[in-house]
Amino acid sequence: YTAKRNRLGIAVYDPSADRHSSQELGLIGELRRAIDEDELVLHYQPKVSTSTGRVVGVEALIRWQHPLRGLLFPGDFIPQAEESEIIVPLTDHVLGMALDQHRIWRAQDTLLPVAVNVPTVCLLDDTFPDRVAEALASRGVPAGVLTLEITETSIISDPAQASAILTRLRGLGVRLSVDDFGTGYSSMSYLQSMPLHELKIDRSFVRTLGESHGGTAIVRAVLELARALDLEVVAEGVEDEAALVLLGQLGCANAQGYHISKPVRATDLMAWLGRPVLESA
Ligand code: C2E
Ligand code: MG
Ligand code: MG
Ligand code: MG
Repeated sequence: YTAKRNRLGIAVYDPSADRHSSQELGLIGELRRAIDEDELVLHYQPKVSTSTGRVVGVEALIRWQHPLRGLLFPGDFIPQAEESEIIVPLTDHVLGMALDQHRIWRAQDTLLPVAVNVPTVCLLDDTFPDRVAEALASRGVPAGVLTLEITETSIISDPAQASAILTRLRGLGVRLSVDDFGTGYSSMSYLQSMPLHELKIDRSFVRTLGESHGGTAIVRAVLELARALDLEVVAEGVEDEAALVLLGQLGCANAQGYHISKPVRATDLMAWLGRPVLESA
């Protein structure tokens, strides 16, 4: 819920927003139940090396196995959840599930670094680094296997606070990745000052790779920037072999996308890992 504020910062009553939020109260209440009843599930999408085809990690992506509406995707409920306080326990829940899964894989002798998406509210929350530390410590999972994916938009919404939280997170030893890179309309100056490890090139640029000179030029520029700042790179949304090959030629180390694998259940991921990733591998 977001109150409309006038220019003096005083919340003003807006009946249309009220109708909107009472509808969403239903969804938020349902989400609360979904957490308690374990209806939220994570699917995992591998990130692979473009040169070896080896899996370098997986990204956890939330889905909701709704009792009446079937399998819901994040676009159906995450934007509303992010407008509500439910996003905080929801993020803790996702983090816990991802780390639990990591331990299950580890017990099966598969070391799979895992990435979790972090909403703006958590990135700017002073208690978030302690909650991450607790989630890791209570499970005995080393911080280095966890990547937190944040967006440029979160960073620009409050760069000073974001920087403080990111610094504490980095101090824990978790990896920090900028998701959907290139879409945030932000100044690039923050990149130098933030303690980041990875950039994920947004799929809108990957989609136009090869097709247009423009797409390729942007990907080249991001790769150049990442090299200069000593950041790792992942290309998102790789949908065909041509794009994967071209990314490798351009020097993009890692890739993720439907061509490699769609996000799948943990058990299906294990089956997928058992077979060669690339024909050339
Ligand atoms: P994202 O973090 O940028 O995740 C990538 C999205 O692109 C995923 O959609 C994934 O399924 C999709 N994708 C992957 N490869 C391809 C491809 O080759 N082509 C196309 N067209 N799409 C591809 P999904 O799972 O629907 O998630 C959408 C967004 O929802 C995510 O974008 C992320 O911002 C958010 N999200 C997902 N899980 C969580 C979560 O646990 N917490 C929060 N706060 N947000 C989440
Ligand atoms: Mg992501
Ligand atoms: Mg992304
Ligand atoms: Mg995205």
